[in-house]
Order: sequence, then structure tokens, then C-alpha cells
Amino acid sequence: MDTYIVSARKYRPSTFRSVIGQEALTTTLKNAIAGSKLAHAYLFSGPRGVGKTTCARIFAKTINCLNPTADNEACNACESCVAFNEQRSYNIHELDAASNNSVDDIRSLIDQVRVPPQIGKYKVYIIDEVHMLSQAAFNSFLKTLEEPPAHAIFILATTEKHKIIPTILSRCQVYDFNRIHIGDIVSHLEYVAQEEGVKTEVEALNIIAQKADGGMRDALSIFDQTVSYTGGEITYQAVIENLNVLDYEYYFRLSEAILKGDVVNSLLILNDILNRGFEGQYIVSGISSHFRDLLVCKDPATAELFQVGASIREKYIAMAQQCSNSFLYRAIELSNECDLNYRLSKNKRLLLELTLIKLCQLTAVPDMGNEEKKKTIEPIVPHKNGPQTEPAAPPSRKPAEETAKHQRENNTEQPEEEEPPHTESQPAKELEKRATLKRRNVSMAGMGVSLASISMQKEETVLAKEEVQQNGTNLFTENELITAWKSYAATLKEEVLLKNTMSLYLPRMLSDVLFEVEVNTELNKQYLTDNSLVILSFLRDTLQNGEITMTIRIAEDNAIKKPLTSHEIFEEMVQQNPALQKLSDEFGLELS
Ligand SMILES: [Zn+2]
Repeated sequence: MDTYIVSARKYRPSTFRSVIGQEALTTTLKNAIAGSKLAHAYLFSGPRGVGKTTCARIFAKTINCLNPTADNEACNACESCVAFNEQRSYNIHELDAASNNSVDDIRSLIDQVRVPPQIGKYKVYIIDEVHMLSQAAFNSFLKTLEEPPAHAIFILATTEKHKIIPTILSRCQVYDFNRIHIGDIVSHLEYVAQEEGVKTEVEALNIIAQKADGGMRDALSIFDQTVSYTGGEITYQAVIENLNVLDYEYYFRLSEAILKGDVVNSLLILNDILNRGFEGQYIVSGISSHFRDLLVCKDPATAELFQVGASIREKYIAMAQQCSNSFLYRAIELSNECDLNYRLSKNKRLLLELTLIKLCQLTAVPDMGNEEKKKTIEPIVPHKNGPQTEPAAPPSRKPAEETAKHQRENNTEQPEEEEPPHTESQPAKELEKRATLKRRNVSMAGMGVSLASISMQKEETVLAKEEVQQNGTNLFTENELITAWKSYAATLKEEVLLKNTMSLYLPRMLSDVLFEVEVNTELNKQYLTDNSLVILSFLRDTLQNGEITMTIRIAEDNAIKKPLTSHEIFEEMVQQNPALQKLSDEFGLELS
């Protein structure tokens, strides 16, 4: 180990062909050289470490090569090429404008421009970070750029193209360098590792490539760092420790909790991650990417494109199978929203936590995978005999998520004796309804094959239409309506928010079939709206009137109060659900 050369230098490409990840651009440059269509000024723009200076050097070497190859690459053997490779060529001048940005710096460069080359045809002036030049330096450079000698070629490189003044920009041929794809970086790192005899895990290289954010120079320097840190073996564990990257494992645990709708656990995992010193923004963008990766892994074809080691890919594929597309779309949307709002948020932690809560609620939406869908739809026919099991609700794609979930639980867990005590006439009615159902089932069975092909959805519509016929247009009083309203509220157990709303605000008849509920807040209105289909279905059934309709209105003196501050909203929510206060206290949440 006599002289250690960093990998970024040791493996710096010496021909256009060996430049990684910029094929379109290097091909264009080669074609320009082949057609002798050289401009006097080029602007290479793009992120750091993607090969701008490297390409500028290869370009300078290639146009001066005395014996270029058939495909217009430098020969790397002639006198000029060797001088270039040994960094003693007089035909290339590099100025780093980040540290040499005065008028004097640019003047001394301009002075050299007049001197023609000794060997080779062109003198190439590379000005790195050209946007850093002072205004005065820019101005004096502009004159040279307007009338350059025939042998002079300028290559300006910048990471910030928008800072280049238009007068300069208009005199340059512009080449935009891309971030290098993760896959390209990984395979180059694999190549370097092989040359250096370093053992690697592909997950580890993948993390390095992600961390380098499309820059090969950074990727190689992280690679070197890790090699010296681990003594020659690049493992996934070593890399995430060295780079302070969050283990995939956390994202898997988090998404498992989210899929189960387990709010408490997901908040605990978040707490754990924050305690390990990870930035909120980093976490939320990690969650976004995690869901995106899951989406990619839903399809075996796209899963192939997912650049990780086989073991991790298997994990992703397995988890992806548990997620419906609609869940993933919404999850990506929610986490992305949080990502966007994060910087501006005054209470970042609360924003993160709210996002997790919302994510947890997603899993309760009935519009899930097919299996879930069946669960919510199936009970309609066989269970049309109990109030909770009355979800003519499936059309409501977005009921308060909680409600839907509990309804499902109720369906499966609660036997009939747990029916609400409110209806004395219930048994009789039930019998009657069962009879109707039996009749209907028989007639359906009678229709045979053709009916079997009708989808579940259609069946629902049929039933909904029948509801009016079946329930009739029985007249009822406001008191009867209120009694039915209250008895529905009494059936609610875990849906505290809806239950409280329904107990607080009673319906008022506006006409024979139309009633109104006047509430105080937008929140209350929301609960009722979200559950209106289930509520109405219950009322229609109980009051034997299929035409009952509900409107929800916010009381006018309250309407003025809007918009509520976050504090007011929170207090309102606590009032209706004291458990929230407990949650807030337990996790030390704060509203700003
Ligand atoms: Zn040559």
C-alpha cells in the first residue's frame, strides 16, 4: 500500500465510451468531433460529480489527438494524448471559478488564449463553476468569447445554469448532464470492487448509489470511505451505519403497522426512529419512497427493475401483495403531501404523526383489494336483518374509515342477541323481512345462470332500488324519526365521534320525507356526511319509508366562526373524544 489513489481518480474514464450514464451526450460530442463541427464555447451544466469536467477533459484530449480511433475516441498513445494523461499538456487550462473569480484571474487566462498551441490543434479552456465569476470578470470574459482566436475552445461548467447571464448563454452550445441512474452507479461500483478485490453486498452498493444522488464521484468516495472503515468488505449493515441511513427494516415495520391500522404502534416506531436521530423530512421521504417501491414491486415485471438484492426484493414483493393499488396510491399521495408541507409546518412532529394516523386509517377504507371488497359486500343479502348490517353503504366509497371498519367487525363479531334494545317490534319485523329475503333468494335462484353472471355491484343497485318498494312510503312523525335516530346512535359503540354527534344534534322534519340536522361545526357535518348512507338506510328501514332524505347544515352563528384555529379544532375533537387528549399527553404532542 505505497501510494493510495482514490477510486474517483483511479477509475476516471479516459474515453467517451467509458463515461458512465451520459451516453446520449457523449455520442453527440463524438459526432461533432467526427464532423469537425466544433463550437468555440460549450456550457456543460448538471449536478455535481456526474462527469462534466471529466467529459471536458476527454473532449480536449480527443480533439487534439494526433491519431484518433475509427470511432472518434482519443488513442491514448500519441504524444498529445500521453501529455494529457500525464497532466502536462499545454493545450488544456483549467480555472476553478469558485476560488479564482476576480477580473485579474480571468485576464491572465485571456492573455494565454492568444498563444497558439505547440502540438495539436486546439487550446481548451475549462472554467469550472463558471456561475461564480464576478460581474466584472464576466464582462471582460465576454469580449474574448465574442471574438475568440480559431484555436481556442471554451468549456464552461456549472451546477447552476440559471445563474449564467443570457449574453454568455447565447454564445454557448449547451449540454445538460443527467444524474446518473442508480443501476449504472451500482454496476460501476461492482466493477471497481472487483478490480480492487473488495467484497460487496448489492444492497450496500444500492444504498451508496442512493446516497450519492446520481453523482459518480460521490458514490466512489463513499465507496472508498466504507472500504477504509470496514477494512475491505462492504456490507449493508456497515454502510447504513457509516452513512446514517435508516434500515429498510424500519419501513417494513412501519408499513406493517399501517396495514393493520395500528396507530399506536406506528407512532411508537416513529418515536423510535426520531430517537435514533433521524430528521423528520428524511423519514417522510423515506416512507414515500418505500410505498413507491412497494408499488413497483406489485408487478413482477417492474419488480425486476427494482435495484436491490434478491432477499430484500423478495420482502418487498411479499409486502406488496398485501397492499391494494388504491391503498398504495393514497399512501404515496399522503406521504408526499406531508413531505411537501414539512418545511413550512410549525409543528413538524405533529404533522408526521397526523400523516401516520391518516395512513393507518387508509386500511379501513372498504375500497381495498378484492378480498376486502367481498367482505363488505357479501353481508348485504344474508344479513339484511339487523341495523348495523344494513350497509346499503357500499356505494359510499369513503365513509369515515373507522366506521366502515367497525361495521365490518360488527358484522363478523357480534351475534344477533347484541341487537339494540330499541325496537320492540323488531322480532316481528325481522321475521317478515326474512320471509321477504327467502322469497327473493328463491326467485333469484330461479333465474339461474344468467343472474349468476351479474356482478356484485349490480346486485347492490338492484337491492337499493328495491328498498323503496320494500320499505314503502309509510308516514311517520318527527318524534318517531328522533326515536329511530337515537336508537341508531345507541348501536354505535366504538365510533364515539359519530355517536356523540348524533346524540348532540337531533333531526328536524322539513317535509314528509325530508329532514334536516343543524350542527355546530364542520367536523360534525363531516361525520354525518361520511355516514349518511348507513344512517339513512337504517332510518328508511326502521320507519318503513324508502324515500327518507337528510340534509345537514351548519348553524349560522357558528358558520361565521370559521375558519377554526388548529387549537379550536383540537379542543372540539377532544370534547367529542377525550381519548385524543390522552393520546396527545402520552406522546407529548403540541399544537403550534
Ligand atoms: Zn492520441
